[in-house]
Amino acid sequence: MFKKQLTALLAALALAAPAFADEHAHGDAAAAQKFIQEIMATNSHYDKVKGPKFFQELAKGQHPRATVVTCSDSRVHTNMLDKTPEGDLFMVRDIGNQIATAKGSVEYGVNHLASSLLLIIGHSKCGAIAAASGDYSKLEPAIQKELDTIKIDKGVENIEGVKTNVNNQVAAAMEEFGDKVKEGHLLVIGAVYDFADDMKQGAGKLNAINVNGETDPAKIKEALASKAAGEHQHEHHE
Ligand SMILES: [Zn+2]
Repeated sequence: MFKKQLTALLAALALAAPAFADEHAHGDAAAAQKFIQEIMATNSHYDKVKGPKFFQELAKGQHPRATVVTCSDSRVHTNMLDKTPEGDLFMVRDIGNQIATAKGSVEYGVNHLASSLLLIIGHSKCGAIAAASGDYSKLEPAIQKELDTIKIDKGVENIEGVKTNVNNQVAAAMEEFGDKVKEGHLLVIGAVYDFADDMKQGAGKLNAINVNGETDPAKIKEALASKAAGEHQHEHHE
């Protein structure tokens, strides 16, 4: 039983290797064994620190305020945007933060868990975007299938491809959930987590580039400001 779990975990860890940086990279099972020990120790510490009450609350159910679509990239994590992501962020992750191959998960978050924010996050130095902007015909068919959903120009600069893709994903979301946006039940935000400072707004900044399909910077600023002004309202103010 444990061996089976360990095998699955090792497979997952192997997948976490930089797939596009080096196609012929190999994992190291001995290093993985060391890491799984670290993971178990971290988890043991986590459950002690959080305590039983915290988990009792989680067991009651989830009411995530946001459905978040991000790239699987290991440099992108929830702690850069939410101090308490548990129960709060419904996470959908894939290569290239695209909706097409994870549509059911996004629909589940928006339609069934009724999260009022759909946040789509691209990031600087994205390997999926780099692959999609070049020739990826030699990659595994399943990877190609996911990259096919990323509609960007060949040879485009990485950060420009990232932005175009985020805007395309917001457009796809608006096509499906536009009525919810119109009715005031949903806010769709497209953003870029720019740890490389490619957008010159500061390294590590989460830059909003699209609000409900609107890409004009002045209008985005206005939309985010008016939302911030409403943060003292009670949760169920409707
Ligand atoms: Zn990426």
